[in-house]
Amino acid sequence: MTDTGRHQPALRLTRADLDALPSYVPGRSPADLARELGLPEAIKLASNEVPYGPLPGVVEAITEAVSGAHRYPDMGVVALREALAERYGVDADRIATGCGSVALADHLARATCLPGDELLYSWRSFEAYPIIAATNGATSVRVPNDAGHGHNLTAMAAAVTDRTRMIFVCSPNNPTGTAVRRAELDRFLDAVPDDVLVVVDEAYREFVTDPDVPDGLSYLDRPNVAVLRTLSKAWGLAGLRVGWLVAQPVVAAAIRKVVTPFSTSTAAQAGALAALAQAEEMERRCALVVGERERVTEAVRKFLPDVPTSQANFVWLPLGERAVTFGRSCEARGVIVRPFPGDGVRVTIGTPTENDAFLAAAEAALA
Ligand SMILES: *Cc1c(COP(=O)(O)O)cnc(C)c1O
Repeated sequence: MTDTGRHQPALRLTRADLDALPSYVPGRSPADLARELGLPEAIKLASNEVPYGPLPGVVEAITEAVSGAHRYPDMGVVALREALAERYGVDADRIATGCGSVALADHLARATCLPGDELLYSWRSFEAYPIIAATNGATSVRVPNDAGHGHNLTAMAAAVTDRTRMIFVCSPNNPTGTAVRRAELDRFLDAVPDDVLVVVDEAYREFVTDPDVPDGLSYLDRPNVAVLRTLSKAWGLAGLRVGWLVAQPVVAAAIRKVVTPFSTSTAAQAGALAALAQAEEMERRCALVVGERERVTEAVRKFLPDVPTSQANFVWLPLGERAVTFGRSCEARGVIVRPFPGDGVRVTIGTPTENDAFLAAAEAALA
């Protein structure tokens, strides 16, 4: 025993400003909920995962790769970057990979913002943005979503100051599912100064069906645009942590410098390569999700008419103060959704059976 019983509660070892950040609260475990309710299983529609398991060949590729687990991964992530470059028609030197695109979003802030600089985004949007701003010492500037729950790009352009270093445009937006249109994004990019990095976060790009929603990759001729993509959602690799970004070569090179070394693991690189070889199957699964998204949207609009049209694999229920009780009520019926207190509830699209269970729970909660 080395504990002498002396406690020094006032001793501060970490940054005081971090006290204000929310601690991560793990989502409800489906296994625990099922046990509590005495059900064979609970349904998790809370994390925007695709419900069909890893793509064919992925488990085999990972299994083979882990036999080399005593070696470091390829730090340059060469094969994966080249495969991405080929599939998306961009040069490999414009690509950087990271431990999920959320890590790359953080690295972008680290590479652009000094303390006191401003990081601008719409709100409500991806919960990681405020944390990324705060941990990098940047000041968050939040522009409220418009009445349709989407980005107000005109107001965002007007909120740029000479301290603004980076802007997140989340399209489709997590958690509201809305996406920006080409004409408004063109106008926005024309209005933003050339020395402000605009990061188009396209984690849900593969689920977009509206032809007016532009592909961020079509803006790469603008030097101040960076695009974030991930293999966590449509590609079914959330547990492996593979995200990637495309930017002009000097920006991508800067990110490859600040990235935590070897953060795209051997298994992640092998799994991602195998997944990319299954693009057709990925598209088939996305089409199933999109079909269900339309069905669920139509059904929930019967009792909640202002559910926005989603371009992602989830729908947003703007329930305001009823969000938390709605979430609890769904849980009591074995369906885990994602409430944002005082604002709304995000529901991931699952299999048809899972969605039916959700719709029954939602109807019971709102009727
Ligand atoms: C899920 C998500 C990401 C990325 O997730 P990773 O698993 O870290 O790649 C990025 N942006 C948004 C808006 C997301 O919803």
